Amino acid sequence: YKRQGLLPWFAVLGGHISTLRRRLVEGNRRLEQALEQIRQIAIRDDLTQVFNRRHLMDLLMHQKAIADRGQYRFSVCMLDLDYFKRINDNHGHLAGDQALRVVAEILHEQVRVGDILGRYGGEEFLVLLSETTLMGAVETAERLRQQIERDSAEHMPHKLPVTASIGVSEYAPGESIETTLGRADRALYRAKGAGRNCVRMEPPPSDDPARRAAVPH
Ligand code: GH3
Ligand code: MG
Ligand code: MG
Repeated sequence: YKRQGLLPWFAVLGGHISTLRRRLVEGNRRLEQALEQIRQIAIRDDLTQVFNRRHLMDLLMHQKAIADRGQYRFSVCMLDLDYFKRINDNHGHLAGDQALRVVAEILHEQVRVGDILGRYGGEEFLVLLSETTLMGAVETAERLRQQIERDSAEHMPHKLPVTASIGVSEYAPGESIETTLGRADRALYRAKGAGRNCVRMEPPPSDDPARRAAVPH
């Protein structure tokens, strides 16, 4: 009789435990969501939601490590908005910010799985094209450029046109990422010099003994 009297209490206790367990599961889920949110804030640019410069550099180092090990090749497009200061000066900072968001969105729609898109500086974006040689990257850069020229204005206040210049380079095994980016940057500079809203590339030095020596066999 006494034992039977305990049964309802076990039931109540069991109910409590399963409630606690449910809350624990729910709490863990929320904690994981919060952690993921923090992680995203740490690696993304606030304004455009593409990767920030720090994370871009981490990913580039990772790509370099893979490329140095074997057959993997990649290229980079360095993209800089044209006459951006004019947009800010003539139409206000908010129009400038909108231009950055619009371009980021267009680039985001264009890049493939495995490619990497980030904001490299104020009005500069970097697109890393995975498994892509210099010539393939130039074609893609040209497509990106045209897409921006064609689609940006309709998302801008006063239908303001936005264009970009792009410099392209391919990673050469053994070299530093800074060297690869340096070529893209010089190519970008030439694109600006050629009148903007165009693509230029710089091939790696064809015969660099220091680089060949650094390539693992
Ligand atoms: P170019 O065609 O030679 O690239 O000319 P530009 O005017 O784009 O280049 P410049 O380097 O003279 O100006 C870049 C401007 O970008 C200056 C700065 O005020 C603006 N800028 C940088 N970051 C931001 C941002 O986050 N928001 C806005 N609205 N403007 C920014
Ligand atoms: Mg600019
Ligand atoms: Mg710039």
